[in-house]
Amino acid sequence: MSDHADNADKRIYGAIAAGLAAARRAPMLQPDCRCHFCEEAVAPGILFCNSDCRDDFQRLMNSRVRAGTF
Ligand SMILES: [Zn+2]
Repeated sequence: MSDHADNADKRIYGAIAAGLAAARRAPMLQPDCRCHFCEEAVAPGILFCNSDCRDDFQRLMNSRVRAGTF
């Protein structure tokens, strides 16, 4: 029983480590006066035009990390 739990832990920690490595490889977002998701003009220093775009962008990045395409 404990062997199964240990193996599950190893898989989970492996997935977390892979996710962290992918996140570290991802370039930091730089504000460029455009929403990073829909490219609408935004104020200087702002990354997204609204929280929906920020959330959608985050979801997109997360799915890319999970798919290993990022
Ligand atoms: Zn936007």
